[in-house]
Amino acid sequence: MAQEQVDVLILGSGPAGYTAAIYAARAGLKPMMYQGGQPGGQLTITTDVENFPGYPEGIQGPEMMEDFRKQAERFGLDNRYGMATKVDFSTPGAHKVTIDDTIEITAKTVIIATGASAKWLGLENETRLRMNAGGVSACAVCDGFFFRKQDVAIVGAGDTACEEAHYLSKLCNKVYMLVRRDEFRASQIMQNRVKNTPNIEILFNTETLEVLGEDGVTGARLKNTKNNEETTIDVTGFFVAIGHQPNTQIFADYLTLDEAGYIETEKGSSRTNIEGVFACGDAQDKIYRQAVTAAGSGCMAALDAERYLAAQGLH
Ligand code: NDP
Repeated sequence: MAQEQVDVLILGSGPAGYTAAIYAARAGLKPMMYQGGQPGGQLTITTDVENFPGYPEGIQGPEMMEDFRKQAERFGLDNRYGMATKVDFSTPGAHKVTIDDTIEITAKTVIIATGASAKWLGLENETRLRMNAGGVSACAVCDGFFFRKQDVAIVGAGDTACEEAHYLSKLCNKVYMLVRRDEFRASQIMQNRVKNTPNIEILFNTETLEVLGEDGVTGARLKNTKNNEETTIDVTGFFVAIGHQPNTQIFADYLTLDEAGYIETEKGSSRTNIEGVFACGDAQDKIYRQAVTAAGSGCMAALDAERYLAAQGLH
């Protein structure tokens, strides 16, 4: 297996990873980044970002991540495609990270910015039709286009589900919103947006029993949890927007994770329980999960890594 060595290895390329890269590169630490399975992170699958300071007119998520990338590369980031597949954090100052089972990087410090991924319902046909691009998706912005003027369903009742339902309502003929309780979790403003959109029909107390269809989605079998009545809706697209889980499984043997899988860091820092390993962004934040907080925590991770290297005489 090919071997390489580096002072600062950054895993993940969302706002946290790129901000860490900008700070580490400007500090002369020559960071190396592996971008992970979704280069640019979750913002590459959203549309308007209106709450990142510095963009008075808002900006498209993918465009903003291109700006992050260019800014980090301007300061010399060694930016690479690839996924971390295995880690060995047993030797402080010489942590090992295997990339795509082909390259082993030995890093004095590792900054984990691997983010979070969409959750699924776990229904058999949901998985099958998701894998073969048969009309099940967790990204309305990516896939809504394919269902123009058609009827679709979206599961979830948080801000994401509301945002995506509203997005779909502009493209599709009709959007069924499947809410498992008798109320939303989303903020009032997002709820109102959905409730005031005529072609969104909200079905409360509704569970999905089955996604229907062979080669493509044809409908969904639903149950009303109040009266146990089963119904079927005819839809060609089935969207799932029920939250995310942190991409931290490969670190579980070494790092302390909370019960939901988020990496635990020392209060007010990015330090994990392992010396020289720092965590930032959604991989360690289940509360705020915003681009701007992720970026802020990426900055913290780079500064923590820089101070650690200096204190240990490693750089
Ligand atoms: P949330 O965790 O906030 O909401 C998840 C939703 O999915 C909940 O309504 C939950 O139901 C539902 N759900 C979970 N599991 C299932 C299941 N198995 N079957 C059916 N429904 C299920 O996730 P979001 O992705 O919506 O939001 C994450 C964070 O990002 C939040 O803090 C949110 O405010 C923020 N955000 C902000 C935006 C904005 O301000 N523009 C846009 C998007 C996200 P239940 O309520 O019953 O638990």
